[in-house]
Amino acid sequence: MATVINSKIDATTLDMVTTVHPEYRRWISIWRFLRDSYVGGLDYQEGCYLTRYQFESEEEYRSRILQTPIDNHCKSVIHTFNSFIFQNPVKREYGTLGNLPTLEPFLEDADLEGRSLDAVMRDINIQSSIYGHCWIIIDKPATEVGTRAEELQQGIRPYISVFTPENVLDWQYSRLPNGYYELTYLKVLEADDLRYRSEKSTLVTREYFPDRTEIRVYAGTDRKGETVESYPNVIGRVPATICYASRSGVKGIGVSDIADVATMQRAIYDELSEIEQLIRLSNHPSLVSTIDVQAAAGAGARIIMPDNLDGNLKPYLLQPGGQNIDGIMASIQKKIEAIDRMANMGNARGNRAITMSGVAMDTEFRQLNVRLSEKADNLEYTEENMWRFWAAWQGLVWDGEINYPDTFNMRDKIQDLNIAKMSKELDPDNPWVQRAIRDTIGEVLTDDGHVQEMIEYWQPPLPGPQINEITDRQYPDGEPIPDTLPAAYQPSQSAENCANCEYYKENAAQEGAGYCTRWNGSPVRAVYWCAKWEPKESD
Ligand code: SF4
Repeated sequence: MATVINSKIDATTLDMVTTVHPEYRRWISIWRFLRDSYVGGLDYQEGCYLTRYQFESEEEYRSRILQTPIDNHCKSVIHTFNSFIFQNPVKREYGTLGNLPTLEPFLEDADLEGRSLDAVMRDINIQSSIYGHCWIIIDKPATEVGTRAEELQQGIRPYISVFTPENVLDWQYSRLPNGYYELTYLKVLEADDLRYRSEKSTLVTREYFPDRTEIRVYAGTDRKGETVESYPNVIGRVPATICYASRSGVKGIGVSDIADVATMQRAIYDELSEIEQLIRLSNHPSLVSTIDVQAAAGAGARIIMPDNLDGNLKPYLLQPGGQNIDGIMASIQKKIEAIDRMANMGNARGNRAITMSGVAMDTEFRQLNVRLSEKADNLEYTEENMWRFWAAWQGLVWDGEINYPDTFNMRDKIQDLNIAKMSKELDPDNPWVQRAIRDTIGEVLTDDGHVQEMIEYWQPPLPGPQINEITDRQYPDGEPIPDTLPAAYQPSQSAENCANCEYYKENAAQEGAGYCTRWNGSPVRAVYWCAKWEPKESD
């Protein structure tokens, strides 16, 4: 399950006092880099991700770090993903849990820290995007109340805790007889002040087993671990689940959304430092002189030459040309475009002037849509698992349903509007084309489904194909057949009929009946047919 770590693998002495999973040891430095790349600011500076120059002193290096700005693409990419996924509300059906008095307080304060369930789910999405995955524990306060009524009275209910991979030290999955894998052990870091390296510093872990939960404290000069609390686990399972950004080949390890973006961001960070150096040196040249030369101090550096040089040598200014800056700026721009490609966000992040063809833009939107859809599926699966534990803590079985959006509307509205404008200028005669142009403009102008319905409703009526080849036709039961349907409209004699036709839209209110979009929305019957029959396109 775990290995004892004897060597220092990171900045803290955590690994020397307890056991961690082999994958934890393998990934911890990468997770910290990803975390710092997302957080930016002081955390990034303290990570010392700037490449050192040869012969650069510690002081010079620190000063360069402080002077170099961070262009944070990781945060931008992750928050763009998040905004798309949560642009529409998550649909939740709670089943029998809907009547529980604990439900409403849980939805409003899911983590006992004041965050709603929606806010916690957004955080879970962000954390899994950063690290590739994160862990969610659904726990319940261990208290000595006797009855369920007392529990409710005291507001005791399950709550969510989100743990980033950095704080989950060890885990184990076991294969069940039915082939499923179940989490059978989890160790999380609850408190760690070992980095302060005082004699009083401690490390606290919480270990979850199917039958119990144990809290261990590592303290004292030898950091010896001691179990300070152990209580039974009444649900008989480790109450934790994992949310992946994308799955990797290793159980318990996900693939970060920003793994490659963070590396590229670091390369940009190095180049920003180069630009800062170049600007400073070209604006403030260095004075090269012997030590005896009297020179007033300026912003530039002073380079001291040996005293025993030729007496005819004069002080001079050393100043690099500024032309390299353009080259570095171009290189940074290329890297930003590469980040957009990696994240399928050339259009969504708006960093690029529109140079893509319509097909290329459409392809990128589709790729992004697939990616977001996969993330939404992972969130949906995670939340369903969370509700299973939430129900189990209250002696119930989850029978509700969670639905995250499956597709994401990522239109380039300006592009759509331009196409509609150009189409309108062509002044098409066909009223259906005119209507399509009006529809596009209406959809671009508003995201509100209700307003779009009203726009649809107030469209002027369109002339349909004037069939009227045979009037006064009737179905066998005496109902008139609309004149807008063609002469060939008749009872189907084969497997082809309206019900399996591409143009058929079912009428939910009337079994066996629908509408034909080919014939101006005319009411049709499922077992009829006409010569314009087309097979349904697969979804
Ligand atoms: S096109 Fe013809 S077959 Fe198809 S739904 Fe309309 S009437 Fe039926």
